Order: sequence, then structure tokens, then C-alpha cells
Amino acid sequence: MIDRTATQHSQSLEKGEYTSQELTRAYLDRANACSSLEMFNALDESRIMDAAKKSDERIKKGNRLSPLDGVPVAIKDNICDREEKTTCSSNFLKDYRSPYDATVIEKLRSAGAVLYGRTNLDEFAMGSSTENSAFRTTRNPFDPARVPGGSSGGSAAAVGSLSAPLALGSDTGGSIRQPASFCGIVGMKPTYGKVSRYGLVAFASSLDQIGPMSLSVEDSALLLSLIEGKDTRDSTSHPYADKYPTAATVKPYSGKDLKGKKVGILFPEAKSEGFDESVLKACTDMRNWLEKQGCVVTEIESKLWKYVIPIYYILATAEASSNLSRFDGIRYGRRSQQSNLQDLYVRSRTEGFGPEVKRRILLGTFVLSSGYFDAYYNSAQKARRMVRAEYLQFFKDLDFIVQPTSPTTAFKIGEKAENPIAMYQSDLMTISVNLGGVPALSLPMGMDSDGLPVGMQITAPHFEEDSLFRFAASVESDFKLDRSGIVTKTY
Ligand code: GLN
Repeated sequence: MIDRTATQHSQSLEKGEYTSQELTRAYLDRANACSSLEMFNALDESRIMDAAKKSDERIKKGNRLSPLDGVPVAIKDNICDREEKTTCSSNFLKDYRSPYDATVIEKLRSAGAVLYGRTNLDEFAMGSSTENSAFRTTRNPFDPARVPGGSSGGSAAAVGSLSAPLALGSDTGGSIRQPASFCGIVGMKPTYGKVSRYGLVAFASSLDQIGPMSLSVEDSALLLSLIEGKDTRDSTSHPYADKYPTAATVKPYSGKDLKGKKVGILFPEAKSEGFDESVLKACTDMRNWLEKQGCVVTEIESKLWKYVIPIYYILATAEASSNLSRFDGIRYGRRSQQSNLQDLYVRSRTEGFGPEVKRRILLGTFVLSSGYFDAYYNSAQKARRMVRAEYLQFFKDLDFIVQPTSPTTAFKIGEKAENPIAMYQSDLMTISVNLGGVPALSLPMGMDSDGLPVGMQITAPHFEEDSLFRFAASVESDFKLDRSGIVTKTY
């Protein structure tokens, strides 16, 4: 049962072929069989089964609340749920309980979804491998010696190992798409402003978005359709989120629709070093496929390509240093017992934050300091506008842009942990999407010779989620990932 998609579960629940309790139990058993993958910070079986039971009661009475009523959804542990701890995988918030629910949690609860385990992440979502978690190292279901990607590594491994049918992640610079590509699943970052971030613990507010992680494109659209929408509690929430709602059912483009679609290929660095052979092969496969469908394929080049990592790491760290100043030992989480206020601040932060978080706070404070503000932060803001303008320019002539999600497949645990610059490089393909605010989706495109999945990223214009899903669904139908090795494997 666990290798079926959420959409299939939804239909079976509707028809009474199995109950939400049977379904949820099957996933919990699977999660327990895969416990050495260390995907969850919390998996409260009795609360979860209770939610499934309530769902079954509704379904029995014919009061099903939504297509996801009764379907488990794992939640990244930086999204506030009153009924659970919200730890952000940080010692600072180890025992923190939010007094309120995130908007996405409210929405899922009122849709009857079974709020499932809380998934591990890089501390405060800062990282690309989930190794920066203060609690545990999540492992890749395709090879437990490798990372699942990050920062939504727990969510990606949970869906990829078939321990949950769906999950929420958050994406500031690639944290949904890159782990999705490493774990062989679909990960989608919506247009900035499409999904409310109320109740998402802020990392870099001008970039953060919550999005769906799933086994199929169709499931991705279904989950997005239930969490999106204008929210007055998030000032960056966009009216278009309501005006152009995502269709919950995806109609893949037919051969006729695909003919003449204008697709830009952005593989500029792909010719140079640092890209795995398997990733280059996926690019060729993608290109051949597009041409076979009669799409109009053009190679495009970004003039700003080499600047996106510095732009991102200036803006994201600046915003993080400001957002994380609220963790002062007084209001939230950890408090060091000290006799004076200054020591309390310093010791609480010294003890509570891990090394990567400290590095970012230092970097961010530096780029915001007077004297450096213009040289770094202001310049980065201007350059960011140029990235956005470049997307607008590209999309004057194009329907979609395709590129690999990551230069490599999943790397070994420990391989990049000591080298932050190498780690930051792995975001090369994903962060410009956040800088531009456009929607993008990563979907599986074959495997390398070690049996590790490769991911391809498709980007669409602002608020064109529907066409993105339709296009991705057509690609997906010809590149289904073989998961037979995963279903029978335990960890
Ligand atoms: N890997 C990027 C970083 O470390 C992106 C993280 C994210 O999207 N949350 O900042």
C-alpha cells in the first residue's frame, strides 16, 4: 500500500477500500522499519492514530472534508503546530511549544489531513545536507551512507523511503528542491507570496516559501491547492494566491499542447567541472525529450549566474541575523542561568546555536554593519533586482526554463560538512529561483550508476503554477523513477 501516491490513497479512502487508520498504521510501521534513517524529530503515534480515527469517523458519516482527509502529511519541524514541539532542530528550541498554529497547519487540519511526524532539518533551515541538525543525521534512503540533501532532508527522506506519502518543506534557497532531487521525489517551491509563512520560523523572510514534497506531480498540486491562499497575517502574502488558485487535479499536456512550447535550457556551467556525468546525461535526456515533443528549445545564458551565490549569502545571512535576534534567552527557548543580563544573552546564544547558525549570524551582522552596508547589503539588493528582471526578460519569450536541480547526486555524509563554501556551491542551481520569486519544481530524471536519483528542475513565470504542474506531469510520465529497490528495503 505504501508505494501508492496520495491521490490514489485519497480515492481508496473515498471508496472505503481501506481506512485512514489502516493507511496511517502502514506508514508508521514503515517509518519504524526505517528508523535508522533518522527522519523524524517526533513521531507521536497515539496523537497521529487519533487523528486518523477521527478522519475515519467523518468518512463513515459521509462528511469527508477534502481529498486529503485521512491522508498523512509529515511536517518540517520549523512549522508551528500547537500540538507538537517546534524545534527547528536547534538546541535553542529543543523544548519549545508554539502557542499558535501556522496557517498551513490550520488549513491542513481543517482539510482533515492527518498531521504526521515532525521531520528533521538543518538547524533553522540553514544547510544543504541536514547535517547541521543539532539532534540527528538523516540518511538517504537510496544509500544510507549519503545525505538526503537539505535543509528539508527529513521530509525528503520520509517521502523517499515511503515512510510518509506527503510532506511539507520550506525553501529559502533550494531546501525543498535539492533534497527532493537527492531522494528521488517531487519537490515544489511556489511563487513567493502564494503560501502564507505565518507560523513558519523565519530564516530569510524575503525568500522563504513553504511547499509540497511528494511522490508525484499530481500529489504536489493537490497538497499545494490546500495550503495556498491569501493570508492577512503574512504581509507578503499575495492577492494572486486567491485569484489564481492551483487546480487540485493536474491535466498533463497532451502531445498537441507540448508542440511549440518554448523551453529555455539553462545549463551554462554544465560544460565545466563540478557536474556529475549522470547530471549531464539527464540534461541530454531532457533536451532530447523536449525536441521529440516538438518543443521550441533554446539555450539561454544568465549573465548573473556567477553572482547568485554571493547575492544569496549576503541577503540570506543579513535577514537571518535580524530574524534570529529574537532568540535572546528571554522570550523563547533556552535560557542560560546567569547573574546579569549581558551574560544571559551571550551565554544563551553561545550554548543554544550550532556552528553554522553562528557563522551566518556573524556574516549577516557584518554585511549590515554601518560602513559595510552599502558595499554589501545594498549592492546585493540591487543585484537581486537584476536577477528578477532577468527572469521577467527570459519569460517574455519562454514558457519554461529547465536545468538540473543540483550539480551532483547525493554526496557522502561528512564529505562537505567541514567545508562551508563547497556546501554553498551545491545551491548553485536553485537559489536564483528564490531571488527571482518564481515557482520551480524538481522531479526525478533517472539514476546514476550508483543507483542514486538525479533531479531536473523546471521553472515557470510568477503564479504559473498550473502550467508548471501540467508540463511537469507530461515529463514525469516518460521518466518514472523505479522505486522497486526501496519498497522492500528496510534500514
Ligand atoms: N542550502 C541553502 C542554505 O543553506 C538553502 C537553505 C534553505 O532553502 N532553507 O541557506
